[in-house]
Amino acid sequence: MLDTNRIGEAADILRNGGVVAFPTETVYGIGARAYDEQAIRRIFAIKARPHNNPLIVHVASIEQVDSLVADIAESAKNLMATFWPGALTIVLPGSARVPQVITGGLTTVAVRMPDHPVASTLIRLLGEPIAAPSANRSGRPSPTHVEHVHRDVGNDVDMVLDGGTCRIGLESTVIDMSPDIPCILRSGAITIDMIQAAIGQVTLHSPSNSTTEPKSPGMQQRHYAPNFRIIPVPRDAWAQTLDEWRNSDKPIGILCHRTAVQDESVTFYRHIPGTDEEYGKGLFAAFLDAETANIDVLLVETVKEQGVGIAIMDRIRRAQAIEKDNLNES
Ligand code: AMP
Ligand code: MG
Repeated sequence: MLDTNRIGEAADILRNGGVVAFPTETVYGIGARAYDEQAIRRIFAIKARPHNNPLIVHVASIEQVDSLVADIAESAKNLMATFWPGALTIVLPGSARVPQVITGGLTTVAVRMPDHPVASTLIRLLGEPIAAPSANRSGRPSPTHVEHVHRDVGNDVDMVLDGGTCRIGLESTVIDMSPDIPCILRSGAITIDMIQAAIGQVTLHSPSNSTTEPKSPGMQQRHYAPNFRIIPVPRDAWAQTLDEWRNSDKPIGILCHRTAVQDESVTFYRHIPGTDEEYGKGLFAAFLDAETANIDVLLVETVKEQGVGIAIMDRIRRAQAIEKDNLNES
């Protein structure tokens, strides 16, 4: 049941310049009034988030978008009509009203209408958009369970709203509508195929094939990083990989999906059966739970890069990338 009294209290906290962690269907966020610069600065401080990494502004109605953006092209309206409320963040030309702290000095602003009763009630009761990045410290996996929010930022925010487990578990798809051909900056549960079916051709930004500065300052390679090493394991390579690691003197963990790996000797074991969507839903929670098991290495089953598998493999690769220690995304 929706605890509207408690959500009302949270809205009051935001109105008075506070900061609240709340659930969305993707991951938990830390929110503040979008027009309150000081509260937004506090979010950056809590997360230790680099100032050039802009925040997503969350709305509960199309009217709220009008105050945030300078112009909404037809194709962007089409995306909103098709996918909102939902896990799609749309980057649009920002209006003069949007504080620079939110956009990191960019002329664009990222906007999303979440599909979660707690999030939308909170925005409605506040009556204004809420700027909210994921409720984790910069460079850490995004929280998808309320316990993980408490563990990472619980002591620093003014309230944590409990929404149980996030339905999607992966951060929203981010699409930049400014180029002639719109560009997906971050993959998520709303896939390139779904977007192309709605608005025609779009491109997929890839950090590895990009020769220019990242369009989205937060898209550095290493992100979502837990405190152990990740070894991606294709489904048909489990036997061989286990042979290699079984006799290691390090504590290891297994995260499997299509293959129910049998191994009694590991320190952490999680099997997430079912669809790739279900695997995506449990991925970050598995990373965070594996941390408390104090493992050195997590063997993680890979999936085909199709549908939501593109987003899953993006998160696994970023968590795995250890060559850059400049943790710059959150
Ligand atoms: P988070 O809020 O932690 O899910 O991260 C939000 C993501 O949206 C970051 O990767 C940002 O780089 C991206 N983002 C936010 N605003 C913009 C913008 N104006 N242009 C491009 N990317 C953005
Ligand atoms: Mg984040």
